[in-house]
Amino acid sequence: MDSALTVKNVFVSYHGNEALRDVSFSVDPGSLVGIIGPNGAGKSTLIKALLNLIPKDQGEVKIYGKNIKEMRKFIAYVPQRSHIDWDFPITVLDAVIIGCYPTLGLFKRPKKKEKAWALQCLEKVGMQDFSKRQIGELSGGQQQRVFLARALAQKAQVFFLDEPFVGIDAASEETIIHILKELSTNGKTILVVHHDLSKVNDYFDQLIVLNKELIGSGKIDQVLQADVLSKAYSGRFSFLDKLEVQA
Ligand code: ADP
Ligand code: MG
Repeated sequence: MDSALTVKNVFVSYHGNEALRDVSFSVDPGSLVGIIGPNGAGKSTLIKALLNLIPKDQGEVKIYGKNIKEMRKFIAYVPQRSHIDWDFPITVLDAVIIGCYPTLGLFKRPKKKEKAWALQCLEKVGMQDFSKRQIGELSGGQQQRVFLARALAQKAQVFFLDEPFVGIDAASEETIIHILKELSTNGKTILVVHHDLSKVNDYFDQLIVLNKELIGSGKIDQVLQADVLSKAYSGRFSFLDKLEVQA
């Protein structure tokens, strides 16, 4: 079986400061993967480098054996919420439509069919009643759900979400993880950056543990081990205590 994602020897630096060193791993199709590690570990950098949004010093990335360029329209990316300009004047519906039809341009009016599909995707995340709102007027959880709707509208095969659960309400978190699990059951591959360890056991079937270097990668029960975690979080034992409570 072809890997959904293959990452080989990726190095990234910012102005000479190394952010990622020699990161290699692969992900099977249909996996729901958590990317974990402490703040500043390079999780966001990894996603951006995989998607060619920032340059790599070295390394190779393949999606279903192909280059990102060829696969772009099959890939959905939901950036870290804090990195999005929420003052940008756009309605919820338009955010979903423009997200799924990047070639439409600002001056062409979307067709009925496109609007109907966008509304269907908003309904899936429980946001159909908010379609005329400005995205800046939504709560964190609602914004995150709209961005998931946009990713759904795109009919992507591979999804990258950067910290989708930060600063959102419990109901939105539940809606989002439910949809991600359903997508993965339907064969979609999903990578989710998640900066703390609570719930990783419930949420993911594979983990990538990062702290500039790859500390571990594989099935959750193989990776969610005290030695791996203490290496990644370098002795921040409160996380490990939490893990023991969970087990
Ligand atoms: P994480 O998402 O795991 O918190 P990041 O990928 O955002 O980590 O950052 C990894 C490291 O790279 C950090 O030390 C951060 O300060 C640095 N970094 C991230 N983005 C930039 C940037 N645009 N310019 C310079 N340094 C950056
Ligand atoms: Mg980050």
